Amino acid sequence: MQIPSRLIEAAVEEFAKLPGIGKKTALRLVLHLMESPEERSFNLSENLSKARRDIKHCQRCYTLSDEDLCTICENPLRDQNTICVVEGLRDVLAVENTLQYRGLYHVLGGVIAPIQRIGPEDLTIDALVRRIPAEQTKEVILALSPTMEGDTTAFYLTRKLKPFGIKITTIARGIPLGGELEYADELTLGRSIATRTIYDQQQ
Ligand SMILES: [Zn+2]
Repeated sequence: MQIPSRLIEAAVEEFAKLPGIGKKTALRLVLHLMESPEERSFNLSENLSKARRDIKHCQRCYTLSDEDLCTICENPLRDQNTICVVEGLRDVLAVENTLQYRGLYHVLGGVIAPIQRIGPEDLTIDALVRRIPAEQTKEVILALSPTMEGDTTAFYLTRKLKPFGIKITTIARGIPLGGELEYADELTLGRSIATRTIYDQQQ
């Protein structure tokens, strides 16, 4: 693709570095901005720079936040005795979108992955362990990816949290709603059989 402007080409290259954006889409976005009022481009870059500069991690749950404490941690209506442990902010958003959870979170910042040299000390596990007695946590829900790394992390966390005598649960993993059994891969199906629940509880 030959672009007759180095300025546009440079902008397209930046957009194309974003996940899910190919060069064609990047060009479409840049051309749209070039044809829009100048302030739109200005606002876009200004807001992004400001967010990138000022964003921090919540001091309690480590999700991204504008303030020292995020809006979830600050909300007194949330169940203060339950912590849902997730890998990253995307998972917080995914669980929030279900509207099924009213407790707090703890963002690990990844999972234990020996091959990538990510050990427990690279994650916020110590901070999580400190929260349990400090916040009188009653239940920790492990909502980690059903991967080998996710399972390793869940196993490690369970060992660390067991001495506190709290309830440790993990999200049920299984067949997607509306999914047909025959199309589920055997790993998913096998796991959903292994983690089956009493039928009455699903009603
Ligand atoms: Zn928080």
